[in-house]
Order: sequence, then structure tokens, then C-alpha cells
Amino acid sequence: MKTVTFPNGTTVPALGMGTWNMGDSDSRRADEIKSIHAGLEAGIRVVDTAEMYGSGRSEKLVGEAIRGRRDAVFLVSKVLPSNASRKGVRRACEASLKRLGTDYLDLYLLHWEGSEPLEETIAGFDDLVAADLIGSWGVSNFDTDGMREVESITATTPCAANQVLYSLDYRGAEFDLLARDREAGIVTMAYSPLGQGGDLLRAPVLARVAARHTTSLGPASPAQIALAWVLRQDNVLAIPKAGSPKHQHENLAATEITLTRDDLAEIDAAIAPPRRKEPLAMI
Ligand code: NDP
Repeated sequence: MKTVTFPNGTTVPALGMGTWNMGDSDSRRADEIKSIHAGLEAGIRVVDTAEMYGSGRSEKLVGEAIRGRRDAVFLVSKVLPSNASRKGVRRACEASLKRLGTDYLDLYLLHWEGSEPLEETIAGFDDLVAADLIGSWGVSNFDTDGMREVESITATTPCAANQVLYSLDYRGAEFDLLARDREAGIVTMAYSPLGQGGDLLRAPVLARVAARHTTSLGPASPAQIALAWVLRQDNVLAIPKAGSPKHQHENLAATEITLTRDDLAEIDAAIAPPRRKEPLAMI
């Protein structure tokens, strides 16, 4: 599988797993845990969660799913902007660790920029690295201006990742942000790469392209094409949420697909790439 490498040299597969909304429904819980297990058993390492998701329910479910498997996971969580003062970052991280049943995060992100000065948040992240509570830190929903600001702040450890909305539904990051992050050695984590399972997966162009591809599971699906399209970019780590082992296996099989020049041209003709800078969209 394609990989991405963080500034501290850690390399992980470019397909990870999202967990937003996991833990919200008792009837889906067992499948969600099985889905995370299926992903880890197949070699996925990145599991993405946040203190915000279900007010901690996602972190609790992830904690349950990774019990006894912590070493196999590259665990990512996020601090809310309202908790992102220097001291608040520490409090929030310790609460996340408790819910996750672990004593460290591999990566901790500022969920989006709020009113706390970034210097404070980054100093808080540096404190957590020094205390071995996190391996590295990053941001989320930061556009090029925000990334410039992050890089202008003196920190002991570098920004490792920027998690942004990137899918065929929202191609804005392609204009300059992806290249900028790549050149700075910052991994882009693409969130909602399947358009949250909505209209995108019914786009006729995805069905047409899917009809030309197969995977080890059989004929390709529109979702697999949408994911293969995000994963075609170097330095991009996609974190689709799969609520069942079936979807997890399908997402894994999408990594077998290489889109051709003709596929990409047909997709561009149906869903145009950005021609000018647009503000970064967020969900
Ligand atoms: P995704 O684009 O990952 O879509 C998830 C939806 O797609 C679910 O309904 C899921 O259904 C469905 N799905 C998954 N796999 C398949 C498949 N193979 N075929 C068909 N449908 C499929 O949306 P998310 O918004 O969940 O984004 C992914 C992750 O990104 C989040 O879970 C979260 O971790 C992160 N995120 C970060 C944000 C940020 O601000 N930093 C904002 C939003 C998301 P089912 O559940 O039934 O499998």
C-alpha cells in the first residue's frame, strides 16, 4: 500500500480510518468495533478521532476497539479550539487519553482555529511532546494563510499534519494547499473522502469509471473510485469512515486501483478542478 511519512520519520499506510459518529448508536456499535478490527488486521494503522465526536463517545469506542492492540495503531485525536489554551490543551489531552484507555497519542491536532492565540496552543503541544503524552502535533481546517502563520511560530517540534476536507465534492485544496503542505513536509489528512456517503457516490462519472476497474473483491464501486482518486495524490492520507467490516474491506481494496490518465480526464470533465483560489471548505 502507498505510504506517507511524517516529519519525525514515522511512515504509515496512506489509508487510515475515520470514526466520526461511531459510538453514537448502540445497534451499530458491535459492527463499528469489528470494522476497526478488520482495518487493523489488514494493516491500516491510522485511527482518527476527536474529543468533539459524540462528546467523547467516539474516543470511548476507539479505546474499546484498540484495547490490547495499541502498538498496531497510529492514534490521532483533536482538541477543540475552546480548549486550546496552553493549559487547556493538556487538560483536554489527558481527558482524551483516559477515554481512549492509553497513555499517549501519536498525533494531536487543533480541530480548527479559534480565538486562543496559536502560539499558546503550539506551546501546549510542545509541552505534551516533552511529557511523552503525544508523539507529534498538527492542525486541521487550516488554509494556506493559516499554515504560513503556523510555520512562523517558533516551536520545538514541527507541525506534522494538516487535516482538511478533500474529496471530489470539495477539490479546493488542490489549487495550492496540497502542494504547499507537501513541500513543507506536512502530511495532508483528507477527511470525508467519500463525500460522507452522500450524492457524490451517485455521480454518473464514478459509475462509468468504476465499470472499467476491478479489485480482488470484484467489480469496483463508485466509492472505491472516489477513494482511489483521493489516494492518487502523494503525501495525502485518506481517512474514510467505514461503519462495517464490509465497507472497511471495500475501502482497503480501493488501494489496488490505479486510475488511468483517461479516467482522470473524464473525472475532471465532469467535476472541474479549481481554477482559482477558493477559501478552504470545512464540514
Ligand atoms: P466519509 O467521506 O468517510 O463517509 C462516510 C460515509 O461513507 C458513511 O456513511 C459510510 O457508511 C460510507 N462508506 C464508507 N465506506 C463505504 C464504501 N466502501 N462504500 C459505500 N459507502 C461507504 O465521511 P466522514 O465525514 O466520516 O469523514 C471521514 C473521517 O474524517 C471522519 O470519520 C472523521 O474521523 C474525519 N473528519 C474530520 C473533520 C475535521 O474537521 N477535521 C470533519 C469531518 C470528518 P457506513 O458508516 O455504513 O460504513
